[in-house]
Parts: sequence; C-alpha cells; structure tokens
Amino acid sequence: VLKGTGSGALPPMLEQYVRMRDEVAAQLPHALLLFQVGDFYETFGEDAERTARLLGLALTHKSSRDFSTPMAGIPLRALDSHVERLLGCGVCVAVADQVEEPGSGLMDRRVTQLLTPGTVTEERHLGADENYLAAVATGDGYALALLDVSTGEFRCAAFHTRLALYDELGRCRAREVLLAPELSGNAALLADFQARFPVMLSPASFEEADAHEALRVTLGEVPASLSSGALRRACGAVLGYARVTQQGRLDMVRRVVRFEPGAHMRLPDAAVRALELFQAQSPQGRTLTDVLGQTRTAGGRRRLRAWLRAPLLDELSIRARLDAVEAFTRAPDLRGAVRSLLYRAHDLERLSARVSTRRAAPREVAALARTLDLLPEATDLLGAQGGLLGGVRDRLSALPDVVTRIRAALVDEPPIRVGDGGLIRDGFHAELDELRAAAIGHRAWLADLEVTERQRTGIGSLKVGYNSVFGYYLEVTGAHLGKVPADYRQVATLKDRARFTRPDLRDREREIARLEAAASRLEQEVFTELRDSLAAHAEALADAAGALSELDVLAALADVAAEHGWIRPVTSDGAMRLVQARHPVVERSLGGRFVPNDVHLDPARRAVLLTGPNMAGKSTYLRTAALCALLHQIGSFVPADHAELPVYDAVHTRIGASDDLAGGRSTFMVEMSELAAILHGATHASLVILDEIGRGTSTLDGLAIAQAALEHLHAAGAHTLFATHYFELTRLESDLPGLVNLHVAAEEDAAGSGGLTFYHQVVPGAARQSYGVEVARLAGLPAGVTTRAARLLTALGAQGADTRLTRELATLDLARLTPMQALDLLHRWQREVTGAQSTPG
Ligand code: ADP
Repeated sequence: VLKGTGSGALPPMLEQYVRMRDEVAAQLPHALLLFQVGDFYETFGEDAERTARLLGLALTHKSSRDFSTPMAGIPLRALDSHVERLLGCGVCVAVADQVEEPGSGLMDRRVTQLLTPGTVTEERHLGADENYLAAVATGDGYALALLDVSTGEFRCAAFHTRLALYDELGRCRAREVLLAPELSGNAALLADFQARFPVMLSPASFEEADAHEALRVTLGEVPASLSSGALRRACGAVLGYARVTQQGRLDMVRRVVRFEPGAHMRLPDAAVRALELFQAQSPQGRTLTDVLGQTRTAGGRRRLRAWLRAPLLDELSIRARLDAVEAFTRAPDLRGAVRSLLYRAHDLERLSARVSTRRAAPREVAALARTLDLLPEATDLLGAQGGLLGGVRDRLSALPDVVTRIRAALVDEPPIRVGDGGLIRDGFHAELDELRAAAIGHRAWLADLEVTERQRTGIGSLKVGYNSVFGYYLEVTGAHLGKVPADYRQVATLKDRARFTRPDLRDREREIARLEAAASRLEQEVFTELRDSLAAHAEALADAAGALSELDVLAALADVAAEHGWIRPVTSDGAMRLVQARHPVVERSLGGRFVPNDVHLDPARRAVLLTGPNMAGKSTYLRTAALCALLHQIGSFVPADHAELPVYDAVHTRIGASDDLAGGRSTFMVEMSELAAILHGATHASLVILDEIGRGTSTLDGLAIAQAALEHLHAAGAHTLFATHYFELTRLESDLPGLVNLHVAAEEDAAGSGGLTFYHQVVPGAARQSYGVEVARLAGLPAGVTTRAARLLTALGAQGADTRLTRELATLDLARLTPMQALDLLHRWQREVTGAQSTPG
C-alpha cells in the first residue's frame, strides 16, 4: 500500500492511515481514502500518485528519519469540488476526519463519508435529476434493481432478454452499476456491457443469503413480489452496497416497487437518443425536455423525465392525464396560481428522504416546513377538481399538521449545524429555557463586573478581560496595585500592569460553560426528537412530495400547450391522423417559418416511403410523427391542429448514421444491430421510424437490405415511416398494398443556376429524382466536380437498371416460376427499363 523507501517502522500516523485504508478497502475495494491531517486531506503512497494524476496536484513527500513516501493533499475547504471531480473520473472516495481537538500525540480519526457516484445524497454532489444505483443479476431471465438513495425510490423489474434489460438500463441512466458475478465473470458480456454503458462498475455481494439479510434488515421482510432468485439477488445487492456507503443508515428506503416493463410503451434507448428527449445530438441543440420542462420544482422535473421514459399504454390513464392538462389549459388563472406556488417549493422528495434517514440539518427541516406550509394553499386551489387533480389534492391534504410543530420548535433562520446552538425557539422547552436564562444571568453578572468592581475598589481604570489560558481576569495598572482587594489572586504580571482572578469568577465561568453545554445537548435532543417525529410521517411526506411533483408536471404540460397552441389528441383505434403537425423543438427554433405537415397512417395505409432531397425536411417529418405519438402517451397535448393517435406499444427509430462507435463496431454494424432489434421487436401496434437505412454499405447491399426491411415491417403490420434516398424503392408502392409514396417538395431554381428551393412541404407521390448533386452544389463543391457528377449520374442511371435486371435474371429460379408469373415479370422489366431510361434523359 505504502510505496515508500527506507527500512524503518512506519510513523504512527501512517500506520493509522494504512489500517484505515485496509478497513475501507474491505467495504469499498476501489475507494480512495482522503485522510485529514490538519488543514489538508492527504493521500499517501500509490494513492498519492493516483490522486496527483487525477486532480493535477503536486506530489510531495512525507519523510521521517528513515522512511519516505509520496504524498498529495487537498485543502479542507476544497474538498467538495475535488470530490466531484473524482466521482466524475469514476473514483469512489472515503473521507476520514479528525474527531478530537488537536493535542499532543496521535489523533483519533474516523471515516465520516463514503461517496460513490450512484449513492451520494448531498445536494452539492447531485444534479437535480434522479441518481440511480443499479444492480443486474441473471437466473430465470434478467433482473434489474434501481435505487435512488437521494429520494428513497426503489424499483425492480424482470426481463426476458438482455436487450430489453439494456433498454431499461439505458433509459434510467444509472450512474453506478453492480453486476452479478455470472455477468462480470463473462469477458465477452462484460466487454459488451462496458461498451454500451460507460458507467462505474462497483463490486458487491450477490449471495442469496446476503441478499435475504439485506432485504430483511431494510424492508423488514423479503417481499413476495420478488418472485425470482435473480430479483432478490439484484435488490439485495443494491441494498447491501447502499447500506455500506450510507454507513448503515438506509431508512429512506421503505418499499420496493416491482414494475412491469411491458406496462409501458417500449422506448428503446436508440429512440430516446434519436428523438433527443433528454440530450441533444449537437452541442447547441435543444431537447424535448427543454421545450416541455418548464416545471417549477426539481421533483417535477424528475417526474417529467420519468413519464417520458415510460409512456403509458392504458387508454384510461392517458385520458386521466389529458383531462388534468386540459383543466389547467382552460383555467389560466388557476394554472398561474399553482405554478407560482410551486415556484416557492423546495425539493420535497429529497427533503423527505433526508428527514426519514435522520440526516436532515436544521435548515433542511426549516425548508421542509416552508414547503409544507404551501400545501393547504395548494389544496384550496385544487378545491373543486376531480380526476387526477382531485387525487393530487387528497394526497396533499392527507399529511397531518407537522408544520405547526416544526414552527413551534425551530427558529425561523436556524444555523447550519445542530451543534451551533440557538436553533430551538425560546418558550418551546421549559428546561431549555431555564438553562438559557441561568446562563444569561451569569453572563449579565460578568458584563456588569467591570462597573461593580470599579465601584468596590475605587480603581477607575480597572478592566475585565478574557483569554483562553486563564479565562476571565481583572486587570489593574501599576499605579493602582496598592488598592487591589484581598480576594484577588494574581495570575500574570505584565510590564506596567497585573492580571488577577477571583475564585468565584472561576466558578461562574465553569457554571456558564456547564449551562451552555447542557443547553446545547438539550437542543440536540429536542431537534432529534422533532426530526424523529417527522420521520414517523415519512410515508405521508413521500406521498405528498410525489403529488406535488405530479401537479408540477401537469401544470407545466398545460402551460406549454397553452403557450404554443397545442391541442388535445384523441385516442384512436389504429389510425394516426395529424393535421398541420409541427416538430415541437424545431418549430421553437424556427419560429413562424416552420411548415406544418399532415401525417396519415392506418391499417390499410400503414407504411409511408418518403423521398426528397437532402435537407428537405424528411427527418424532421419522421420525428414529428414519433414525438406526437410519444406526447400523446405521456398524457400531453400535441403540436398540431388536430390529432388522432393510436396507443402504440413501442416507438422504434433508426435515424441517420449514428456516431455511436462504441466498442469499435463499425457504423454499419451498429446500424444493422439496431435494425435487427427493431425487426425482431416491431408488432402491428408499433410505430417504426427509419431514416436512410443501408447508408453504411454499398448501394446495392443497402438497397436490398432497405427493401427487405420495409417488406418485413409491412408484413408485420407496423406503422412505418421510411425516409430514403433510394429512389428504386418507390416502385414498391405497386407491390405492397399498405405502402404509399410521399415526397418533400423542392424545386430547382431557374435552369442552369444550380440552386434548389426547399418548401418543407410533404406531398403525395415519389420524388422525381435525388437532387444529391444539387445539394452538393449548394454545399459549395467546385462547379467542375458537380457538372461531372451530373453527367456520370445520367450514365449510371441507365446502367443501374440494366445491372439490376441482369442480376435478377441471373438469380431467377425458373423451376418455380409459373408462366403467368414469368409474363408478369417481363412486363415489370419492360416498364422499368423504359422508365429508367426516360427519367434522367
Ligand atoms: P432531411 O432529413 O430531408 O435531410 P431535415 O429534416 O434534417 O432534412 O431538415 C433539414 C433542415 O430543414 C432542418 O434543420 C430545418 O431547419 C429545416 N426544416 C425541416 N423541416 C422543416 C419544416 N417543416 N419547416 C421549416 N423548416 C424545416
């Protein structure tokens, strides 16, 4: 551990360091120990080298007579920012503080904090968003457990396939993952996992026996909903690990919710990314959450994200949310009042969790009271509402009145720490009042001492002073030393004066210290009692917090809808009909210049093949449809003039050449594996958005794959929107009854100018040609190159049809062809050859 030089024994402090480091390593093998030495947190040996490297610190040496070791330290006050950076680098941190006043000899130290990315609870290390620790185990299928220690949210689910598990894990964006040995021990699986999820992997026990113990200790029992060994092991691992990092206090976790991944719309991680729900693909880009996220509380923001990650499948639940949003859109005053009230709320979910783990500091309890104070007002505002809003009101009013108790006990502006004293109100606790009054009496006596002693002794210049060596003293200058009374005892002699004390002065002083210490202890007791009494209402607090978050989201959705002219969608039976739909994010950045479009899909017209030049707006059209479907199923209004939407079981997307080259897989491999997942997963109730499939390979391969995929989806009955630059595909319209051609209107400018005007208008029929060369011209390719390209294109166009026909002919299975089919084929070839030759010419 301590890479040092020298033969001598370790100095005692380093011995203590090594011991502590071993203790920490037994619990968190990968943690870095920050060891307080005076005003610094130090690391030694190999850890010092690592720390210096990670934080860019200077490496020094700790040397004694015959021992020397590298050392790197950070000042106490810079702890938070450095811890944040270490967590960001994927390093867990243990903090050992000195726990006694400096004296002589070796100081007692204790590990006061264990910080890991997935289990931090201090506001300053957390974003406002949820912060999950995840565990994965296998057995009969896969099991996932998710715990947000900062709010106490604890969920788990079972999955049949690894891909389904990955989807969920990708959506929740866990910051730290525990993998069962059967997964982490499989090198190929582990490599695949690490390529997909660049998060910290931490070691934890997945033993059945340990899991049972962890579940029993935290939840009081092994819940029946954890019906498989994999679920119990995943949940147990999360709890066991979290308990270690919380140093034994896990009271905020009270129940585990088993969720059914199938109870929500399937929204694979690829779709979340392509639709830019939470993260834009370009650095300046905006996300759907940015547009929707005008929530007023941190809890509301987390709730909105949760809704977006798990859109609903149940029509009644969708309607209930839509009703609530509509109620708010119809009552702007109510909405405004609710939203300005929410503006004053603190993060109730996290405060409740802090109270229930008995960690809340006085100021947090005060913030809790201020927030709870708002609830009656919120209840009043929601007075007449039914449905979801009525439910919210009931949950907000179910909390017994704890505010009065907090207010009665706690001063308005309490100090940061309990030990600072002065946090309990006068008049709240009789014994505390007595102690305080007594201390004040003695202090007043001391304050008057100077005057009374001047009178008694006749020494007008007598002074009362204080220092830490002999406490209060009386000071008399040289000229008056003769007048000093007999009860003074000299304690110090200075050049021209002397200092004295009196036995009763000492007694008073000791009495004050005793009273104040007693008062401080009592304050701590009273505060702890108050906090414990709040913890008893933890469940109701969490309920109210959840209701407040929900209220925030509903009001925010209504606000967006009202501000931007969105309308309430109608849930349909199998048809998507959008009139004048807009892309919620693109529209916001283009203002009035956005061109709305219609979308129409139903079982008989279930696939749209969309062609048009690059930059025409194909991608935007596809995403508009997907986003409207998503918004509908989270219970939001949608940006259109009219909207009918079915309840989709999934939204799948494969958009553009992904820049996700994780694990060194080629773009084409990534594209194909995403396509594979879609083709396996899409049902007749799914919405599939495919943009430029087959781009990553040669034209013919790409074309073949694109056509086969389209045929597959058509047969599966999925609603499919397919944008492509393969004009050859447009002829599929005659073979696939459910397919229609649409294109985005664009027009070449006056002959020879080479310009292109985009109308962003989606119209029936296939595009006339690809315009690729025109776009290249727009992008500034030299004129010589584009002219040559245009000529080549004409030649290739004619050749292309010939090559294709030749290939088709070569692979034709004549033995299985009826005469009628042969005739049909000849007919089609003829049409194609004449068509292909006439278009480019
Ligand atoms: P494509 O997929 O056809 O290459 P995109 O959908 O990426 O085209 O759109 C290209 C650009 O055109 C967008 O960045 C946007 O600025 C603009 N655009 C797209 N659709 C519209 C629209 N309906 N109205 C106005 N501008 C649009």
